[in-house]
Amino acid sequence: MTYRISDAVLDLFYPARCPVCDGVIGAVKMSAGRIKRRPLIHRQCRDKIRFIQGARCLKCSKPLAIDHESEYCSDCMSSRHFFTRGFSVFSYRSISGSIYRFKYMGRREYVRFYAAATERLLGEKLRSLGVEAIVPVPMFRDKEMIRGYNQAAVYAQAVSAKLGIPVYPDLIRRVRNTVPMKELDAAGRRNNLKKAFNVTQNDVKFKCILVIDDIYTTGSTIDEIAHELLMAGVKKVYFLTLSIGQTT
Ligand SMILES: [Zn+2]
Ligand SMILES: [Zn+2]
Repeated sequence: MTYRISDAVLDLFYPARCPVCDGVIGAVKMSAGRIKRRPLIHRQCRDKIRFIQGARCLKCSKPLAIDHESEYCSDCMSSRHFFTRGFSVFSYRSISGSIYRFKYMGRREYVRFYAAATERLLGEKLRSLGVEAIVPVPMFRDKEMIRGYNQAAVYAQAVSAKLGIPVYPDLIRRVRNTVPMKELDAAGRRNNLKKAFNVTQNDVKFKCILVIDDIYTTGSTIDEIAHELLMAGVKKVYFLTLSIGQTT
């Protein structure tokens, strides 16, 4: 990634904040007329983050306990998913505060760190899937107008730039405002999402799509979108989320 003069100017006015502790990261340094890039995260904060690596579910990528006997998590063994396979970058618990600020407190600048971590951990894998289009999980329009941005779309744009795969933010529309998922049980979550999403084209020309969101919990949102895309003629729907919870 190249560091442009425009980035340096932005940094002067909007000091970059650490995605873990939200503290300011050192000022721009000039040496021999050259601008030195500053890190995207404090060195000491790096150790607090848990990446999704090691034993994980072959379907949804949730981390598995060392003594877990199957290659799939209990959720993926008991329920059928419409998505082909999914990938996540961070363990939710280690980054939940960061995602909260990214989502609700305007800390869009964290995306630079998120995208860099995604590239480092999963770049090669994601490029090998044959993905033709990236689609962020959409927000209901009124909600997005109030918040000012859709965090999934911000992340999707940054990943798109890293992978060189175009993003299509309007391919899927959220046609119903839904109740926050954390207030519902599994059955409630499924009902809540019924007909919540609409593919905006009658015949989607892509065969392989990567759906992007900030958090994966039960997978019901991704599944609902994957279902709609499959019905529109897409053959494979992968997902990438910034974070994923533990197996229950
Ligand atoms: Zn920090
Ligand atoms: Zn799983």
